Amino acid sequence: MDQITLPRAAASSTLLEAIALMQKARCGALFVDLPSGPAVIDADIVLHALEREVAPEAELTLGDLKPRYATANFLPTIKTVSLSSSSVKRLNEIQSHLDEKSAVFGVAKRGAKTVTIVTRYETIRDAIAFLPKLWVCEGDPSHVLRAERLQPGNLCPYDGQPTKSD
Ligand SMILES: [Zn+2]
Repeated sequence: MDQITLPRAAASSTLLEAIALMQKARCGALFVDLPSGPAVIDADIVLHALEREVAPEAELTLGDLKPRYATANFLPTIKTVSLSSSSVKRLNEIQSHLDEKSAVFGVAKRGAKTVTIVTRYETIRDAIAFLPKLWVCEGDPSHVLRAERLQPGNLCPYDGQPTKSD
């Protein structure tokens, strides 16, 4: 298990607002309370949704997205979680709680602007810790994708305009 603090967004945030929030926090995921429950949304989910968005007038929000993995609330049995200061017994409790809910993430501490998450696996923490380098279209900032998907000098795959890296 591992722990990471993510920026917190509202379910009504647009996908571009979500990207901007992750860029500001230099983080590859964010936390959002969806109607279905707490969720961790990673950059690739947002980028893929932006690519699929065919009707810009019906702008998608975080509330339209599906998280990759389940996130569990620890409340009320475990109020705040600090892995580094937890006993082995407590760590086992936390792990069992996540496994019972088939959750990969658990809400360890809620703040107004950030939420600290326990990740069931360290590899998952590493996967969301950093935002991938992005390409942004000069003509339309909603044309954004992972930089590794373009070679330098390539044109925007959406409209053929030049691209710039963030
Ligand atoms: Zn473009």
